[in-house]
Amino acid sequence: MKLENKVAVITGGNSGIGLGIAREFAKQGASIVIFGRSAGTLESAAAEIGSMTLAVQGDVTSVSDLDRLFESTVQKFGKIDVLVVNAGVARPEPVEQVDEAAFDFLSDINFKGAFFTVQRALPHLNDRASIILNSSISNSIGMPGMAVYGATKAAVRSLARTLSAELLPRGIRVNTLSPGAIETPIWGRTGLQQEELDQMASNIGSQIPMGRFGTSSEMAKAALFLASDDSSYVAGAELVADGGMTQI
Ligand code: NAP
Repeated sequence: MKLENKVAVITGGNSGIGLGIAREFAKQGASIVIFGRSAGTLESAAAEIGSMTLAVQGDVTSVSDLDRLFESTVQKFGKIDVLVVNAGVARPEPVEQVDEAAFDFLSDINFKGAFFTVQRALPHLNDRASIILNSSISNSIGMPGMAVYGATKAAVRSLARTLSAELLPRGIRVNTLSPGAIETPIWGRTGLQQEELDQMASNIGSQIPMGRFGTSSEMAKAALFLASDDSSYVAGAELVADGGMTQI
């Protein structure tokens, strides 16, 4: 029980990696708050995670929704010990085809959303809290179609360093989790046709030394390390969990 008596807020905790993290953190004794836009998946995820779970519906691009998330959390559970900034979207597109709306969509959710999630949480975080920013290996490698996505994830990686420098006086550690290719619903939401998805999965799969995509529960174990006291001397760091794709 590595998170006993802790309160963890997970944006995007209603699907994929975030849901995996919510399940694992609940198993480790934490009270869980999940946040996302879809009422349906929030409800089913909360029921699955456990009866103590608080589900708050909202959009990370809305600062007032984020304020409501943290106010509801504090009202139900008191101050926050772990914040997982995980909500994100991907939309692979060749650079020529990216229009202003697509650019804004990705950067508003992945970067602006991440920044204000942390900023609005700050008054409600306990000293010595742990913040985990979910980036991606796209923050460091060039993948076709990922110009804007990769840049938003590099911005998120950068935040972990600067925010660590600003928040360490309160004992708050900020670290980055950078997953490789993980089996989650995100792929079906990219707007790509099934044939294009299959092609992409096969291209990426052939570059993974472990020969397979990762799972949400594997990402949850990595996040647990960063959330718990096991990582008490780790700040501003990046934990890459990618089956060796960017390392070997
Ligand atoms: P997913 O299953 O599609 O989950 C994304 C989550 O983010 C959903 O819960 C979604 O909930 C939430 N979300 C999206 N836009 C939101 C918004 N505007 N406001 C609030 N919540 C929002 O995808 P995933 O693969 O688990 O992705 C989670 C994170 O991991 C993302 O940041 C992604 O970039 C990152 N990542 C994923 C992979 C991968 O291969 N899967 C690899 C590297 C990094 P609603 O739709 O209900 O809003």
